[in-house]
Amino acid sequence: MKTQLVLGAAVVTLFASNLLTGCKSGEDEKKKGADSTQVAEKKAGPGDPIKYDSSKRYIFLTWDDAPQPPGTNVCKQVFQEQGVKATFFMVGMHQLDHRRKLIVDSLRNAYPQFLIANHSYTHGFRNNYRSFYAHADSAVNDFLKAQEELKIPVKIIRLPGNNNWVSKGEIRGPKTPREVCKRLDSLGFKVVGWDLEWRFKGNSTPIQSADEMVAEVNNKFDNFTSYEPNAVVILAHDRMFAGKQYADSLRKFISVLKQDPRNVFETIDHYPMVQK
Ligand SMILES: [Zn+2]
Repeated sequence: MKTQLVLGAAVVTLFASNLLTGCKSGEDEKKKGADSTQVAEKKAGPGDPIKYDSSKRYIFLTWDDAPQPPGTNVCKQVFQEQGVKATFFMVGMHQLDHRRKLIVDSLRNAYPQFLIANHSYTHGFRNNYRSFYAHADSAVNDFLKAQEELKIPVKIIRLPGNNNWVSKGEIRGPKTPREVCKRLDSLGFKVVGWDLEWRFKGNSTPIQSADEMVAEVNNKFDNFTSYEPNAVVILAHDRMFAGKQYADSLRKFISVLKQDPRNVFETIDHYPMVQK
């Protein structure tokens, strides 16, 4: 009871000092402005590095082809409920209408929980990958257009249709997009592939169950078969989880992984290769 009273007094004092702030001189306001700039500088933004804890296992949920409502909204809601971070790789031409632009804006503004990254403007000439990667100039311009129109805050790309990894002159993965990878690398982009995929059949029906996916994640960590040790990048697509039973499956997948205290969910700007 005594504590409550003391706290109550503190709240009153704070409230009073806030009221007083409004009456302060311009000089004081200038000082306050300088202070808040300092605070803003300290706040971590997209791409700022984190320190790793070697006792943890880092999981990167990376969802492609966004925005694709209602799946994107469902995934966002499940991630928020579960309190986990995730990355949405966006396709520029998918945000043509106002409603979809708002989804992109809300995800962009939800950092540090959500990060948006670049998955091209046309999704590789509408899945025409051979032609897309054969014309390196236009492919690079396609990524640059997406970068600008989606206002992507980090230089991180996932190639449509190809599991490539690119960082500082090192290129891994299929050969078809090699020239595009080289050019993106020279422009300072990182290209991120994936370690395992929550696959789908038809247009969007998930194949693995939540339990099967958890087993696949554990297998990657236990057998050190991921691209980088202690980090697993998972690919899925927003549209897969629009139906209730699939949203439940996603919820279960995350909640089971959360039961292991070693697991940490991070956005892809904090992936080791990206931070190098
Ligand atoms: Zn895609």
